[in-house]
Amino acid sequence: QTIQDELVSAIRTIKDYPKEGILFRDITTLLGDARAFRRAVDALVQPWAGSKVDQIAGIEARGFILGGAVAHQLSAGFVPIRKKGKLPHETVRIAYSLEYGLDEMEMHKDAIKPGDRVILVDDLIATGGTAEAACKLLRSMGANIEAACFIVDLPDLGGRKKLEAMNVPVRTLVEFP
Ligand code: 5GP
Repeated sequence: QTIQDELVSAIRTIKDYPKEGILFRDITTLLGDARAFRRAVDALVQPWAGSKVDQIAGIEARGFILGGAVAHQLSAGFVPIRKKGKLPHETVRIAYSLEYGLDEMEMHKDAIKPGDRVILVDDLIATGGTAEAACKLLRSMGANIEAACFIVDLPDLGGRKKLEAMNVPVRTLVEFP
């Protein structure tokens, strides 16, 4: 069984969540499968094994789970990118558009030093709007973004192209049409 097959079968699909017409790819089943979780993290970090990465930036909330494991594996630090109002110290903030309306995400001002080599981690990329905003935030602090990594790509929604257009290399493990 290829790793792609194993990961695809470990991901549960929920119809009409969070609203009608959406097929939600639920990765909690993958996280709960010890072997699939380990293989996913190992595969995500494989291009950077043995190279120096300073920080892993994880997007709330599923990006925290994967990002923590990735940070440990690469002996890097971890930086949370959160919904506004959750971080206790001084932050930098960026607004980004959702399907309906705007939202804002933020990170601590002192979390990244100029020139830090950073990898962005989240569970899934769809339109890429969330990851694009996170990359802009990281770059505003002087980060060198090595890559953005996701377990799942929904290629029809164009997220990968959006990040590649801003010169962020994208690594994903499985695709759902
Ligand atoms: P985007 O901004 O790329 O359109 O949406 C990606 C963000 O929404 C990610 O933070 C991701 O966790 C979440 N998301 C959107 N659709 C799904 C889905 O089907 N499954 C999961 N697990 N997350 C999703």
